[in-house]
Amino acid sequence: MWISVTLTSPEQIPLAAVGRGPITYRRSIIVGPRQIEFEDVALPEPGPHQVLVRVAAAALCTWEQRVYAGIDTWSYPLVGGHEFSGEVTAVGSGVAQPLAPGDQVAVAGLRRCGECWACRRGYDNVCDNQHAVTRQPGRPWGPSGFGQYALVDGYQVYRYPRAVSTLEAALAEPLACVLHDVKRFTPRRGDTAVIVGAGIMGLLHLAVLRSSGAVVVVSEPDPVRRAKALEMGADATIDPSTDEYVAAVHRLTDGRGASVTYVAIGAPSAIELAVQAAAKRGVVSVYASVHPRGTTIQVDPNVFHHKEVMLSGSLAQDHEDFLDAVWSIAHHTIDLKPLLSATFPLDDLAQAFAAAARPDTYRVFITPNTTISIPL
Ligand SMILES: [Zn+2]
Ligand SMILES: [Zn+2]
Repeated sequence: MWISVTLTSPEQIPLAAVGRGPITYRRSIIVGPRQIEFEDVALPEPGPHQVLVRVAAAALCTWEQRVYAGIDTWSYPLVGGHEFSGEVTAVGSGVAQPLAPGDQVAVAGLRRCGECWACRRGYDNVCDNQHAVTRQPGRPWGPSGFGQYALVDGYQVYRYPRAVSTLEAALAEPLACVLHDVKRFTPRRGDTAVIVGAGIMGLLHLAVLRSSGAVVVVSEPDPVRRAKALEMGADATIDPSTDEYVAAVHRLTDGRGASVTYVAIGAPSAIELAVQAAAKRGVVSVYASVHPRGTTIQVDPNVFHHKEVMLSGSLAQDHEDFLDAVWSIAHHTIDLKPLLSATFPLDDLAQAFAAAARPDTYRVFITPNTTISIPL
């Protein structure tokens, strides 16, 4: 199901400087499985190198969904919301980029230190210290998009060069992750790329790959999601619940196999099958995390020798991917509208989680400063 949405927030009035704006703001805290509390807290002033952002829209990603469902329990009490857009309201001293109150921005939720070996190598998506945020026991922490304001570091903030809808603007983070994967493993023109799973991440891969010149096949057991993939431009789909996956890939590629496979679901068997269905010099990218940690898979090592198949993966995004995502959204080179499912006000976060868990939704958003919302 896709609900059409009003793409411009009715509250796009730049807030005045902090001193003349509100002195408190509201935020949500996930304190335990299916337990959300709301609190009004003092609006902070940005310190050196910090930026205060008034949140326009924050998407519910799988991480927050797992925390809310009680699958990930390490992060309570969490102020979730790592995929969000907003408006700059105050800029601290020493922020190097030219930011001004009223600027529309996206925020990269992941932190990175800039000093570890991975950062210095240019792999800041796998920074050693991305989780080393200062957490005080029992005190709420987190990326903060599920609140009216978020205080973030200047390097996390990306300014939109031209105004875009607040919902699309909020998808810079997941789009950057997908761009990272596709840049690492790029199909050539005429290659067949297979996306396993037509959830939000699989469909974002499809949106990115549409202009690649590759034939794009989507494997997905859910008929509604398969239809969505076709609607978004997939060249073919596979129903792995009724069709044998490896045979189907071979049938669609004149027996060659898939040149690139993006496994966008956390299923070990899907990775095993993707390796079996890979073409010569084919690449399989494990895009989704597999739970529980320590899960193993079985592959015939001869595919690496005889067919030069490569099995790899990708995680999150680096600075350059984020820049690319913001540019792509600003210039409408990638159509994200089919993935916008519904919006909810901050106080309805629980209902938003319920909506996000439905198989017929893709991205569900919280709009913490707007009273108008579009439920399912
Ligand atoms: Zn995310
Ligand atoms: Zn680092």
